[in-house]
Amino acid sequence: MAEERRTVPEVDRAAAARRAVERRRARASVKRDLTMRVVTPQSVLHRATEDPDSVEGSMRITDFLLALPAIGAGKRDRVLEQLHISPVKRLGGLGARQRRVLEEWLDERFPVSTPRGARSRLLVLAGPTAVGKGTVAAHIRENNPEIHLSVSATTRPPRPGEIDGVHYYFVDDAEFDRLIADGELLEYAVVHNRSRYGTPRAPIDAALAEGKTVLLEIDLQGARQVREAEPSATLIFLLPPSWDELVHRLVGRGTEDAEERSRRLRTAKVELAAQNEFDHLIVNEDVATAAREVVDLSTSSAR
Ligand code: 5GP
Repeated sequence: MAEERRTVPEVDRAAAARRAVERRRARASVKRDLTMRVVTPQSVLHRATEDPDSVEGSMRITDFLLALPAIGAGKRDRVLEQLHISPVKRLGGLGARQRRVLEEWLDERFPVSTPRGARSRLLVLAGPTAVGKGTVAAHIRENNPEIHLSVSATTRPPRPGEIDGVHYYFVDDAEFDRLIADGELLEYAVVHNRSRYGTPRAPIDAALAEGKTVLLEIDLQGARQVREAEPSATLIFLLPPSWDELVHRLVGRGTEDAEERSRRLRTAKVELAAQNEFDHLIVNEDVATAAREVVDLSTSSAR
């Protein structure tokens, strides 16, 4: 009997300790998402408010603020003082006034880009390396023949299974130079310090003239050039479901050396910071859903 009475609480303690470790891990993961801008601070605060028992709700206000991009300990403490919020508070335990002033401060400091409404049938899909834009675009090519998927020209050699004119126009350097010189490219860029990629202008103009929606799956530099050339284009930024997942997709196979891994992670961080330049953010949790959200934008943005 005595033996039994002792073991039950011990089992409970072990389970509670495991739960505590899991929650700490989950909180650490949300903090990384905040730092890397995979989630907005406003959405984390919202979740904490909706469910104070959630991972977000159990986060200390001090940890939350410190996880925000470019907020150090000094700035954090000044903000808490200014907003009259005690540093021992958890996000889910804020009073209504505290929540409101925190929200106002976040909106000012981290403005959330608002969709610019229905304007164009020219859609540009970009996002950090390894987020899965190519897979989302391929899904749309398979399932939405009504959408014209732009075929880029590239100087990189074809991979097994890639078809010239379907996946890319595979050209040599001289031909790429000619395309640039003749003004045939809407945008072009060197990607990953290696090959050149560019979007042929004529097929896009033709598809738009036919009333079709056109989708470009290109890198960030290209997206910025399209915005310059066609300010009405709708720019879509694909986000990973979490920073940890992006890291997994970027370096998951572990075939790269440490230097290459950290280079990729640095690049991803810089790329994620560009999301505010975009009109819409779509989270690539699963490919079919992300593809549908892109297609829905095309129908809602078609004029
Ligand atoms: P991959 O060589 O793996 O097919 O593509 C590498 C990268 O090139 C991807 O990030 C893709 O978005 C980008 N890319 C493909 N076509 C173009 C293009 O026409 N212009 C630009 N700027 N980037 C492109």
